[in-house]
Amino acid sequence: MKSGEIIQGRHLRSHIDESYDVAVVGSGAGGAVVAGLLAEAGKRVVVLEEGPHYTPEEIAQFRPTESMRRMWREAGLQAAMGVGKTPVIGVIAGRNVGGSSVHTGGVCFRVPSEIHDEWSGRLGLKQLGEQALESAYQAVEKRVQVSETPVHLRSESTQRFVEGAAKLGIPMEPTRRNMSGCEGNARCNFGCPKQAKLSVDLSYLPGFLAKGGTVISDALVEKVVFQGTQAVGVQGHLLNGPLGAAGNLLQIRAKQVIVACGTLHTPVLLHASGIRSEHLGRHVTLHPSTRVSALFDEATKGWDGALQSVYSNHFFASDGITLVGAYSTVNILAASVPGAGPAFRRRVRDLGKLGVFGGLVHDEGGGVVKPGPFGQREPILWYRMDPRDFERVKKTISVLAEIALEAGAKEVFAPVFGLPSLKSRQEIRNFQNSPLDPRRVECVAFHPLGSARMGRSKKEGVTDEFGQVFGTQGLFVADGSVFPTSIGVNSQVPIMAMATRIAWHLSDN
Ligand SMILES: Cc1cc2nc3c(=O)[nH]c(=O)nc-3n(C[C@H](O)[C@H](O)[C@H](O)COP(=O)(O)OP(=O)(O)OC[C@H]3O[C@@H](n4cnc5c(N)ncnc54)[C@H](O)[C@@H]3O)c2cc1C
Repeated sequence: MKSGEIIQGRHLRSHIDESYDVAVVGSGAGGAVVAGLLAEAGKRVVVLEEGPHYTPEEIAQFRPTESMRRMWREAGLQAAMGVGKTPVIGVIAGRNVGGSSVHTGGVCFRVPSEIHDEWSGRLGLKQLGEQALESAYQAVEKRVQVSETPVHLRSESTQRFVEGAAKLGIPMEPTRRNMSGCEGNARCNFGCPKQAKLSVDLSYLPGFLAKGGTVISDALVEKVVFQGTQAVGVQGHLLNGPLGAAGNLLQIRAKQVIVACGTLHTPVLLHASGIRSEHLGRHVTLHPSTRVSALFDEATKGWDGALQSVYSNHFFASDGITLVGAYSTVNILAASVPGAGPAFRRRVRDLGKLGVFGGLVHDEGGGVVKPGPFGQREPILWYRMDPRDFERVKKTISVLAEIALEAGAKEVFAPVFGLPSLKSRQEIRNFQNSPLDPRRVECVAFHPLGSARMGRSKKEGVTDEFGQVFGTQGLFVADGSVFPTSIGVNSQVPIMAMATRIAWHLSDN
């Protein structure tokens, strides 16, 4: 097998049976970082990615819906099944070389200090304190060129968001993003057409390949192979059969295996490999996210500017809410506008006058992910929303609606089916104070975390503080699944920093 290349498994016509120092499963924010750093440390590393590989030039040509079908897992139609009083929450993830990193809005946060303190204090995970991760944060932020979003990249929609918030005494800050040369095309979630977003396929994988690393796309890993408790490789199939079905066998021998399949798939692979833990697949947090759209008299042209250029943590300490500037390309936005027939036609004519404002909630770990019951590839995710978190979702919607009215919106469309548009403070208060069927509320999750959490011992978690799976040798996890709690902010930099620490630990030992 050639090194220094991305090999498209779907075009291969034979079995793969190879040996490496390290096999990394998954090429997203966690996997690409750990692979890149281990290759730089002189290891022979292979990255196995279930999804396809597209070049930046190809991605730049995809229209949003095409990007979703080709690169979003299940075309973006996966959802967490709500248990009890819980909205059905759409869960979006990437399935391609670069993983979800290719689809981020580029927003970069570190884990808030109070969460680090909780990890190192209440949970006793001393290695997860802010100081312990400082140099890893710095290394990541330098590599992906995190910088403040300039004011000139704010769309009119975002400008309204800032002005309305200011009138309510809510300060907004510029986001920091992993961008270089952003033009403000507002379509980050479908892959940056200018390659300005330094997702891991552009920031870590090129260096990885230059060091002789190998990436095999369309390579589904089905189990980790052990000799006793020592991981010695992985097995699976190339997805080179008809219509992407499993075809040729994939067998990799490796001294170390690093699982980085993301929060929904890492527990499934570990379970299929015989790992048993009461915590495996549990404690999944989602950061339920919501948004309002608001109709203004004049054009807001949300497409003309950076997708997410401002945020506010004004409500973080009191309510666990982070407000973030948002937008959605017009073709997607049109699908979320209320009404049918003539009412819809009227509203669609006004798409250019819609502002879109968003927010996300720091949630309790109410999710459980399990392998699909009929042997299907995709796992099942249940999520029970804590009543406190549902109130936070409602509060987020109310605050966003108030901001919109203060900014001069004529009416606000809340993401609640059947709710008429909100036109006054009183209507927002009524919404906030009335009982609400959670099933009517639209929520989406972009940051699932926590299904193979770190702990001090097997009693508390699935892995130790360096990602090593308890009870095994040579098996590590380096992705969003290891987070002990929700973090309340966007997760890519924290995951990359955690993966950096794990890679440094492995190369030092
Ligand atoms: C639309 C969207 C917008 C986002 N915006 C932001 C943002 O602005 N800022 C931010 O900080 N975060 C954002 N995020 C979240 C961020 O992208 C994720 O937190 C992060 O990428 C997760 O990293 P990961 O390594 O855990 O998983 P992923 O990056 O999802 O990578 C996992 C990879 O493993 C592969 N895989 C799974 N199972 C197997 C298997 N069995 N064999 C082989 N390969 C497998 C998957 O196909 C996938 O490519 C966003 C996410 C999405 C989807």
